[in-house]
Amino acid sequence: MQKIFSIAIDGPAGAGKSTIAKALAKALNAMYLDTGAMYRAVGLYMLRNGISVNDAKAVASHMDAVDISVGYEDGVQRMYLAGEDVSAAIRTPECSMAASKVSAVPAVRQRLVALQRQIAQGHSVVMDGRDIGTVVLPNATVKIFLTASAEARAQRRAKELAEKGQPADFATVLADIRQRDYQDSHRAVAPLKQADDAILVDTSSIGLQESFDLLKRTILAHI
Ligand code: C5P
Repeated sequence: MQKIFSIAIDGPAGAGKSTIAKALAKALNAMYLDTGAMYRAVGLYMLRNGISVNDAKAVASHMDAVDISVGYEDGVQRMYLAGEDVSAAIRTPECSMAASKVSAVPAVRQRLVALQRQIAQGHSVVMDGRDIGTVVLPNATVKIFLTASAEARAQRRAKELAEKGQPADFATVLADIRQRDYQDSHRAVAPLKQADDAILVDTSSIGLQESFDLLKRTILAHI
């Protein structure tokens, strides 16, 4: 096994990235970084401060005031805004959409990519997001592009929300997923796309455990 390695896991919303990446980091004794949580925190800041997430100029001009940091409690990543733990607050559908909107703003990406690289420095890391293999860690040891059909992803997301006591109807969740897919893959800066050297894994018809086993085998063969 290589001394320090980095694993980039990219893909659309709801493909199982964060659950699998978290478990992989634990199994490989590496640090886990959920970069989506950082875009969500920026989205939450804008929502809370009444700044329209559709107004790229306004979002960019407020970025200097965003005090964002990442911490770990018992190995679990926590997101902070000006010291307040917002790890739960960033998980609403409203925040998902705000994250997707602010993530198209170059000033937001610049700031968060720099922070992501800084956090990962000197550690073995499993990072998940949209642009990890293409932009954040172009020299990652292993790159995975994890995807699934929009229907399969919406089904999982609806189940997750119901389990958290935030039930949403399937059609709305599917429409949200499709809209985020479109926004994430059509933005000008760092759009969601598979890196040329990424391994494609489709989880539409396999469960979480099977996806985890497959990824773990694939990664262990490369590090
Ligand atoms: O992964 P998650 O669903 O939490 O990400 C929320 C949003 O943040 C995504 O829809 C995407 O627009 C944005 N994002 C991004 N680049 C990343 C991670 C997330 O643009 N590396």
